[in-house]
This record gives sequence, C-alpha cells and structure tokens, in this order.
Amino acid sequence: QASRYQGNHWLQLDNTMVQHIREDKWLESELRDAIAGQQCFVVYQPQYDIHSGHIVGAEVLLRWRHPSYGMVPPDRFIPIAEVSGQIMEIDLWVLEQACRCLDKLTTRGIADFRLAVNASGTELSNPAYPEAVQSMLQRYKIPPHRFGIEITETAIVELDEVARVMVRTLKEIGVEIELDDFGTGYTSLSHLTNLQLDVLKIDRSYIMQLESNPKLVDSILQLADAFSLRVIAEGVETIEQLKLLQQKRCHMAQGYLLSKPVTEEELIALLFADCLAEGE
Ligand code: C2E
Ligand code: MG
Ligand code: MG
Ligand code: MG
Repeated sequence: QASRYQGNHWLQLDNTMVQHIREDKWLESELRDAIAGQQCFVVYQPQYDIHSGHIVGAEVLLRWRHPSYGMVPPDRFIPIAEVSGQIMEIDLWVLEQACRCLDKLTTRGIADFRLAVNASGTELSNPAYPEAVQSMLQRYKIPPHRFGIEITETAIVELDEVARVMVRTLKEIGVEIELDDFGTGYTSLSHLTNLQLDVLKIDRSYIMQLESNPKLVDSILQLADAFSLRVIAEGVETIEQLKLLQQKRCHMAQGYLLSKPVTEEELIALLFADCLAEGE
C-alpha cells in the first residue's frame, strides 16, 4: 500500500491508482522524446462534398507509435500533453506537417484543397498560439483560408471570454474556425453568433442515431443554415447514413464509410483519382 502527501494529509493509494499515476507520469516523460525521436506522424482523413462526391479537404490527426508500447491512442496522450504543457509544441508540429503537405500538393498542381487541424482548450488560453500559427503559415507561404482550426465546445464554454478573444484573433489571421464534436457540449446559441464560426462538425454520436432519431440532425442542420455555417457530418459509417445526409442537404461528410485516416502518399493518390473522375 502506497501513500502520497497532499496538502496536509497523507492519502492512502490503492494499487490501481498507483499504477495509473505511474503510467501517466511515464507516458508524459516518454512523450518528451516522441517527436524528436520520430515516433510521431500524422494521418489525413478525407472530407467529401456529399453532393459533388469530390474530396474537398482532410482532417489532420496525430499518431504516436511508441517503440515498446506500440500505438498510443490520441485520447490517451493528448490529455496528458495538455496537463504537462506539451500540447502547444505538439500541435504546432502537427500544423507544420500539414503546411508541408499543402506545399507538396500545390507543387503537384492541387491548390483548391484545405486541411483542418485540432486545437486543444489549453492552447486557446495561450496568447502565444495565434501568433505561432500565423508565423508558421507565413514560413510555408500557405494562404490562411486553406486552414481550418477545430475547437471543441467544451473548450469554448470553459474558457468563455478568453476563448472568444482567441477565436477573433485567429479569424483576423484568416484561418477558418470549426466547432468540433458539436452536440456533445453545452454551446449556447449566443456562442454560435459571437464566435463567427465557419464550420459545424456534427458529432459521431448523432450520426450513429441518425436513422432512429433523425430530428436531432434536422435541427442542427436548420441551426447551421440560420447561422450560414457549413456542416460536416463526422463518423459516417453506413450507406444509409450517407443517403439520409444527402437528402437532408448536409454539405460534407467524413467517416470510415468514405475513408479511414490515410498517409500523405495515400491522400495524394486519392486526390489524383478524384481529378480523373472530374475529367470524365
Ligand atoms: P476528433 O477531432 O473528433 O477526430 C475524429 C476521431 O474520430 C478520430 O479519432 C478519427 O479517426 C475518428 N473517426 C473518424 N471517422 C470515424 C468513423 O467512421 N467511425 C469511428 N468509430 N471513428 C471515426 P482519433 O484519430 O483517435 O482522434 C481522437 C481525438 O484525439 C480527436 O477527435 C481529437 O480530439 C484528438 N486529436 C487527434 N489528433 C490531434 C492533434 O493533433 N491535436 C489535438 N489537440 N488533438 C488531437
Ligand atoms: Mg477534430
Ligand atoms: Mg470530432
Ligand atoms: Mg472527438
């Protein structure tokens, strides 16, 4: 039985707690070497225009392959990086990979393609973040409108005023703002107007219930229409879901039915195949 001194009490810790604390601490220190040690890479999940059928963009997702532990899921290590203060460095590294990808696509003649990166709530409270984004885009000469920054509802609700200022600054730089996992938090309607969002991403949990409970998605689409927001349905896994979304005039879709996250080379191949289809 271990114990830990906290404030002015000794806490009795059971074995599973000890293990968890150790593992988080262990992962945190392993994460410090991960990027430098080339254990991290990014994958791209294509986003399709539901009506034209073309790929219009992709979401950039981080992957970490630990040399002995194997793949560590982002839901496991992102929260650790947020607490330890490593998240901004990590997300800027992801942004840099995304800039390089857009640069490569441009030299290969694909210029009307956009990427979205995820930002954590912790970054939205860091005043250095927007400037770091801007200088990265300038360094790679990427037009800011080719980037979307995904923020979650929880971040906005928790940070409120700070997040609002941050989002405004990012908008001034010219990047687009996307509300990720929409429907899982408690966004008030006033956030939708105050934040000047560009894109709403409907959370996968709503897409999963689309057939049994279509009214939820209907009302989100109406809301988005009223605020002139583009809508991406997340986690589309079945043809039935896709057909319903088409009928409902949802704009874009992303999910395993259309494509799992792929490597940069696979993404480029998908985009060239897409150009062929256009030429028909
Ligand atoms: P998210 O931003 O909501 O990303 C969507 C997640 O859903 C991804 O999981 C993606 O692989 C998964 N997904 C996409 N389509 C489907 C589908 O049809 N079915 C199912 N079951 N899942 C699908 P992933 O890559 O494990 O990422 C999980 C979360 O980790 C992300 O959620 C995001 O919040 C966070 N994350 C990932 N990369 C980054 C990053 O670079 N920075 C930050 N701050 N967070 C990241
Ligand atoms: Mg996302
Ligand atoms: Mg999401
Ligand atoms: Mg999510």
